[in-house]
Amino acid sequence: MSLAAMNLNSEQWALEQDARDELAAFRDEFLIPKHDGREQAYFCGNSLGLQPRSTWAALQTELEDWRDLGVEGHFRGRNPWMPYHELVRKHLAELVGAQESEVVAMNSLTVNLHLLMVSFYRPNKERPAILIEAGAFPSDRYAVASQIAFHGFDPERDLIELGPDSEGGTVSMSSLKRVLMQQGHRIALVLWPGVQYRTGQRFDLRQIADLGHRAGAMVGFDLAHAVGNVPVDLHASQADFAAWCSYKYLNSGPGSIAGAFVHERHAQTDRPRFAGWWGHDQATRFRMGPNFQPSPGAEGWQLSNPPIFALAPLKASLEVFHRAGLPRLRAKSMRLTAYLEALVGAHLGAFIEIITPSDPEQRGCQLSLRVRAGRETGRALFDALAGQGIIGDWREPDVIRMSPTPLYNRFSDCWRFVNAARDFFVSG
Ligand SMILES: *Cc1c(COP(=O)(O)O)cnc(C)c1O
Repeated sequence: MSLAAMNLNSEQWALEQDARDELAAFRDEFLIPKHDGREQAYFCGNSLGLQPRSTWAALQTELEDWRDLGVEGHFRGRNPWMPYHELVRKHLAELVGAQESEVVAMNSLTVNLHLLMVSFYRPNKERPAILIEAGAFPSDRYAVASQIAFHGFDPERDLIELGPDSEGGTVSMSSLKRVLMQQGHRIALVLWPGVQYRTGQRFDLRQIADLGHRAGAMVGFDLAHAVGNVPVDLHASQADFAAWCSYKYLNSGPGSIAGAFVHERHAQTDRPRFAGWWGHDQATRFRMGPNFQPSPGAEGWQLSNPPIFALAPLKASLEVFHRAGLPRLRAKSMRLTAYLEALVGAHLGAFIEIITPSDPEQRGCQLSLRVRAGRETGRALFDALAGQGIIGDWREPDVIRMSPTPLYNRFSDCWRFVNAARDFFVSG
């Protein structure tokens, strides 16, 4: 949407966009928290997505089947628990651009990163290093540093953190190329985000996988902030592996079950892995034999029988995504974020800078804002907004993240935020 097509001085214009929005009805499928009796302007789907109305019934079904069937629910439930994870596989694969055999819902994000690194980070003296972005999400940094140490190498030396090359903290493809040119010979693994959590910068997965592979490294992606936010094409990217959580844009509830991807070419790998009975070939799993025979594909990395009470909300949520369709969601998302960006520029430009890339292809829905007057004022603004039911999130040292998600955010939410922020600065 071009700037000229937007009226940045009229709430009416925002309301008209909402009235015309073909996805507007999806908002009614969510439970929007209230503040003083009025629905919040919730911009925090990047941190904890809101609850779909269908979640309750999905959980209730499983509670009832457990109540009525006991152990028989594994086979006779309305959604038998034994193959339950298959109920999410198709929609999950669709969301991340993978084949069904390449994805699995299991564990939590950091656990999956570790399990996949067990197989795909195989350092040796010549090639001990892992490359990540400086300022990576702390859990990812802890995970890779501990993997390096676990193999007897030194994170001080063998964890390479590529710093930003813009003041706002974004990283250019040319600097990624440079570090891989200079140090690629000793890099065993590149672990990179699909969308960087603090800056909101989106990366070209295919290009990064290609660069990493050319340097002789394995390439894995952390899609925590990408899945359900931007189109992802994991299979075509040729990534070796990927992992993501489901409680952010995927709206599956706090701490809910994560996802993992292993590229088809590793489906039958004899790389080492940490094994558990649920990763054993399904056909013979219940012979309870002593030797591990992995299921082909991503399912071979499962350890335990999955938590049905975590899969049920994921199933309910993925059905919403499937009906809305990611292409339509992305189209609305680009319009919403462009509108938010333009509003901030027009009304708050003197007070706030946006550190997220302005190129729509290099971001998802999130805009990361920095208050020019510094951290104290930034905190005060953040608190003032929260006090009016306008919910973003704060990332130290000085970033406010605002993420209008196309499933339940409206143009008028963006208006409400910018209007309140302007009042904060102008009338103090
Ligand atoms: C949210 C997030 C996590 C959280 O990890 P959990 O294991 O789900 O607690 C990890 N890494 C990134 C990049 C994230 O955005």
